[in-house]
Amino acid sequence: MTTITVARGDGIGPEIMDACLRVLDAAGAELEYEEVHVGERVYLAGNTSGIEPGFWDSIRRTKVFYKAPITTPQGSGFKSINVTTRKTLGLFANVRPCRAFHPFVRTRHPDMDVVIIRENEEDLYAGIEHRQTDEVYQTLKLISRPGTERICRYAFAYARVYGRRKVTCFTKDNIMKLTDGLFHRVFEEVAREYPEIEHEHWIVDIGAAKLADSPETFDVVVLPNLYGDVLSDVAAQIAGSVGMAGSANIGEHAAMFEAIHGSAPRRAGQNLANPSGLLMGGVLMLVHLGLRDVAARVHNAWLRTLEDGIHTYDVFREDVSRQKVGTRQFADAVIERLGQKPVSLAAVAYPSEQALAIPPAPRYAPGERVLRGVDVFLFWNDRDRDPNVLGPLLAQASSDGLELSMITNRGLKVWPKGAPETFCTDHWRCRFQLDDRAPPLEQDRVFQLLSRIGKLGFDVIKTEHLYYFDGEPGFSLGQGQ
Ligand code: NAD
Repeated sequence: MTTITVARGDGIGPEIMDACLRVLDAAGAELEYEEVHVGERVYLAGNTSGIEPGFWDSIRRTKVFYKAPITTPQGSGFKSINVTTRKTLGLFANVRPCRAFHPFVRTRHPDMDVVIIRENEEDLYAGIEHRQTDEVYQTLKLISRPGTERICRYAFAYARVYGRRKVTCFTKDNIMKLTDGLFHRVFEEVAREYPEIEHEHWIVDIGAAKLADSPETFDVVVLPNLYGDVLSDVAAQIAGSVGMAGSANIGEHAAMFEAIHGSAPRRAGQNLANPSGLLMGGVLMLVHLGLRDVAARVHNAWLRTLEDGIHTYDVFREDVSRQKVGTRQFADAVIERLGQKPVSLAAVAYPSEQALAIPPAPRYAPGERVLRGVDVFLFWNDRDRDPNVLGPLLAQASSDGLELSMITNRGLKVWPKGAPETFCTDHWRCRFQLDDRAPPLEQDRVFQLLSRIGKLGFDVIKTEHLYYFDGEPGFSLGQGQ
C-alpha cells in the first residue's frame, strides 16, 4: 500500500475526486488516502492561506498530493494555494499533456499531441510588486540560471524517456534580452546534451500563433512560467476541452497532481461534471509512483469509454456520442472497461524503463562581479516633466567620474537628445556610470551619490546597481535614438 495526500476541493471537486478514487481503487492501485482540508472552507474560517495546519506534515510524509480544484474566494488577501504549494515544496515543473481524441471529442486539430512543460516557480510569479510613483507600478520578473537549467533539462529528459522527437522553447528574448535571453541560451546549452532530440526556439508571439493554428507540428514545448500558464490552457482547450487535461507539478521532494480546470461552482453537486481531467492527473500520479501497469489500465479504459461514445455533457455531441452520462455513471463506465484497450485511438503503455529522474538544482561557482555604475529611479513631477530641465539639474550630483549618462522614461531614452513627442510619466530612470578607464565603483560612492541627489531635492524611489559579470554588462541599454 502507498499512502498519498488527498484534498477533495470545492465546487465540483468532491464529486469528481470521489469518481476518480473509485476508478483508481477498482484498477488495483493499492493506495491509502490521507485526507487534508484546503480551500474555501479554510479560507472562510479566517485562514488567508486556505491551508489547514496539518497539511504540510501530511505532504512531507506522503510526498504525493492528489488535489481536486479549489475555489479561491473573491477579494484581496486570499493567497493562491497552488502558488504557495508549488513554491514551498519546490515543484519546479508543471507538465500538461494535451492530446486530441478525434473523432470522439470535437477539435479542429485531430493530430494534436503536445506536452507543455512550464517552469513553475519563477518569472512574474515572484509576486514582488510595488507602486513606485503616483502613476507607475512595477512587478519583478525573476529568471534564475539554476531554475532555467533544471526545467530545460527536465523537458529534454522527458522527451528522451517518452520517445518524443522534438523540444520547442518559446521566449521573448528579442525584447527581454537578459531574462528571456538567459532562458533561451540555457535551452540551447542543454539541447547539446541531447543530440538525438531535435530542438527549436520561437519568439513567443509567433510561436503561440503557430501553436494555436497548427499544434500538430509541436511535440514537447518548454516555457517560462507566464507564457506556460497562458499557453497550456490554450493547448488543452484546442485539443478538445479544458475538462479533459490533467497536470503534474513535479519537484525533488514532492509532487502534486490535479485537473487543469477550476471548481466550476455552477455545476457543483449535480452529478454533471466531467471527472476526466482529474482522472488524467491521477494517471500521471500512478506513473510517478511507479504503478505503471495500473496507470496504463486506467488510461486505456478511459480512452475506450470516450471511444464508446459515453460522454459527460461538456463533450457530448449528438453525431458522435452514444450516451450522455453524469459524473458517477462516467466513472462506472470506465470501471467496466478496465482491462480493455481502445480500438481506433492509440492505446498507451508505460513500460518500466520509462523512469524519469528529477534533475538536481545545479549550483555555480561565483564569477567576477564588478560595479561600474547605478540606475537611480526618481519620482519627479515638476516643470512640465521636461527631461531637458531634469538632466542639467540632476547632473549636478555627478562627481569624480561618476557621471549622469542618460535618463529614460518607461525605458525610452529622453535625455540627452530625446524626442520632443515622447510622453513622459512621473517615473525617471537616471543612469550614473564611471568612464571606462576608472577603477571599479565602491558601494560607498553610490550612497554618497544618493545623498547628493537627495540634497538637490529629488525623491529617490529605488536603485539598481550596474554590474559587469566576467566582463559582460549585467544590465540593458536604454531604448531610443
Ligand atoms: P472553471 O475551470 O471552474 O470553469 C470554466 C468553465 O468550464 C465553466 O463553464 C465550467 O462549468 C466548465 N468546466 C470546468 N471544469 C469542468 C468539468 N470537469 N466538467 C464540466 N465542465 C467543466 O473556471 P472558473 O469558472 O474561472 O473558476 C471557478 C473557480 O475555480 C474559481 O474560484 C477559481 O479561482 C478556481 N480555479 C481553481 C483551480 C485549481 O484549483 N487548480 C484552477 C482554475 C480555477
